[in-house]
Amino acid sequence: MEKVYFDHAATTYVRPEVLEAMLPYFAEDYGNPSSIYEIARSAKKTLETARDKAAAALGADPAEIFFTGSGTEADNWAIRGIAELYEKKGRHIISSAIEHHAVLHTCEYLEKRGFEVTYLPVGEDGIIRVADLEKAVRPDTTLITIMTANNEIGSIQPIEEIGALARSKGIVFHTDAVQAVGHIPINVKSQNIDMLSLSAHKLYGPKGVGALYVKKGIPLRSFIFGGGQERGRRAGTENIPGIVALGKAIELAVSEMEEESRRLSALRDKLIDGILSSVPHTFLNGSSVKRLPNNVNVSFEFIEGESLLLLLDMKGIFASSGSACTSGSLDPSHVLLAIGLPHEKAHGSLRITLGRSSTEGQVEYFLKELPPIVSRLRDMSPLFEEYLKISDPARVSG
Ligand SMILES: *Cc1c(COP(=O)(O)O)cnc(C)c1O
Repeated sequence: MEKVYFDHAATTYVRPEVLEAMLPYFAEDYGNPSSIYEIARSAKKTLETARDKAAAALGADPAEIFFTGSGTEADNWAIRGIAELYEKKGRHIISSAIEHHAVLHTCEYLEKRGFEVTYLPVGEDGIIRVADLEKAVRPDTTLITIMTANNEIGSIQPIEEIGALARSKGIVFHTDAVQAVGHIPINVKSQNIDMLSLSAHKLYGPKGVGALYVKKGIPLRSFIFGGGQERGRRAGTENIPGIVALGKAIELAVSEMEEESRRLSALRDKLIDGILSSVPHTFLNGSSVKRLPNNVNVSFEFIEGESLLLLLDMKGIFASSGSACTSGSLDPSHVLLAIGLPHEKAHGSLRITLGRSSTEGQVEYFLKELPPIVSRLRDMSPLFEEYLKISDPARVSG
């Protein structure tokens, strides 16, 4: 049976060019960049080349890039770092209702410590309104943290405008761009971004390595204490193979972005049109325009996303549902609730995220397998039976 991996927003495979680039740094070029002999100097040079590549991909200066152990670490560092740095000036932070848990749970931690956080609402399209942001700004606001693109519904925020507003008010602007970097164009200068988080495993690099961009002049404190690595701001011997891989992956992703995003957008739209036209009582979640090229998120009324995932899995199709991020818990996704879905509709959601391995043939296979699965689940659904009774009483009384 064919394996169809439709969960690229959860993680991506390491592409062969990236794997090849990182392999020598495990057993051959294993030097510690902090030492001074030959293999150490070579490691140091490798580290700085990767930093140059990450910087170039973002339109940043290499001195503004700090490697971290994950996207989550970059988010934690940026948010706690700024909140605590400017604590005396103010204790108010603005974020959004649809952030990743790496941001939301950091904000909640700060709330417990006496900070105030405003979570901006989003429209049905999953996008904040800049007017709401402007109204939320207070004299004691020190940080705005709003993601570039959402991991569940793919909505893309007006980053440049948010950044311009933050800058005009003297507030630091951080963005979690983990789903965006390597997928849509990013330029920290033209988009007025002060801090940005990214992660290698969402762009065909390995898990366990990320980076934080910090605009020159922001005196962000160290978050992990120890040696003097990353110019004294992030201690711990550098993950050289991972960092090399991040550099290679980001360089490739950016150079291929235009063509790949055109290809994926076409597959995405084929999926959306195909699903909506072949399965009744189904709708698209999030924006139809300001949307990541690889993201499809739909809700099927009267069924549970989890059961749908299991039946798709049996057909070799791997996707995700509206509660997968809090795996194990059956709470509907905070993102789907924030765009106004009632609980029962949020429960019937399916997220498909495409990537480099996705093909037209896979999309066609999925569109062939989906309708009978949904019908089968609805046939077993008491909610659907109830709906049929109401909409067509003759059908059950006869
Ligand atoms: C995956 C993801 C993260 C976390 O990155 P890790 O490297 O897995 O810690 C943060 N934010 C968003 C939007 C993500 O999709």
